[in-house]
Amino acid sequence: MMVIMHETATEAEVAHVVARVEEVGASAHISTGERVTVIGVIGDREQVTQLPLEAMPGVDRVVAILRPYKLVSREFQQRDTVIDVRGAKIGGGHFAIIAGPCSVETAEQVLAAARAVKAAGGKMLRGGAFKPRSSPYAFQGLGEDGLRMLAAARDDTGLPIVTEVMDPRDLDVVCEYADVLQVGARNTQNFLLLAELGKVAKPVLLKRGPATTIEELLMAAEYIVKEGNRDVILCERGIRTFETATRNTFDVSAVPVIKIASHLPVVVDPSHSAGRLDLVLPLSLAGVAAGADGVLVETHPNPEHALCDGPQSLPTAAFGEYAGRVLDLARWAGKTTV
Ligand code: PEP
Ligand code: MN
Repeated sequence: MMVIMHETATEAEVAHVVARVEEVGASAHISTGERVTVIGVIGDREQVTQLPLEAMPGVDRVVAILRPYKLVSREFQQRDTVIDVRGAKIGGGHFAIIAGPCSVETAEQVLAAARAVKAAGGKMLRGGAFKPRSSPYAFQGLGEDGLRMLAAARDDTGLPIVTEVMDPRDLDVVCEYADVLQVGARNTQNFLLLAELGKVAKPVLLKRGPATTIEELLMAAEYIVKEGNRDVILCERGIRTFETATRNTFDVSAVPVIKIASHLPVVVDPSHSAGRLDLVLPLSLAGVAAGADGVLVETHPNPEHALCDGPQSLPTAAFGEYAGRVLDLARWAGKTTV
């Protein structure tokens, strides 16, 4: 439920409500709006309803959150969440291109990609060092060596790093290097991983699984936010349908549906949605037109020789033109792109 404080409520009154909520073993999540503070109360229903919340000083009213997801819902927080990654902002009108190779292969490859992304106006560098591959015989990523290469590219360009963590056992090492922790589509509902990410002080980019409903995606985000980490970026990367023309089916409606239901930023991944280079630009533009806060896109200096996802990777030589088109549309849609 939500405890909505009076406009005139003092910090001490807010602290008192929080203390009483915590006394019964529930958790309190404060959202400070422009006018009022809202306290989200998550815990055992029986115990929470016994608390005389409405009688406490500074409390205006108590409202139930009807949706199964609570803290990520617009009901709990009306204003958009803005996430600041080393000064690169996303959400609440701030648009971000996040780009780089599917996998980190060599220091030179990731540096070339990072420089192209930076030159084109991209805000963050993506690249996988721990790769979730369908085949156990396929390239699995360079692990910590790959993370070091990403960090070197960050040192060179200033771009924050987005990289995947697949296993809670790798969390410490990935956190040593990463700025944003990516949860891949195969791990959207790995609840133990999500709960661990909720305890980390770094933003999480949570991908929608190929067979995950939007509600399930929001519940997955709730697992992270419930543990205290509010900085979650959601990503539509295509879902599995009967259609075979594309690798996955890009669900463009997910963007406005999520933005209505939740305050979290949403990005689209046209690379994994389509699996086809020729669809990367049109799907990116569709995502931006639908209200996305950014794109997550693969680019490689030499896609023909990529160890993973070459056919969907934009050559870095073409990245500037692609990014120009995407940023133009984002600005036309009223977004800030710097
Ligand atoms: C990726 O972005 O590197 C990736 C593996 O994508 P997905 O988890 O969406 O398949
Ligand atoms: Mn990929």
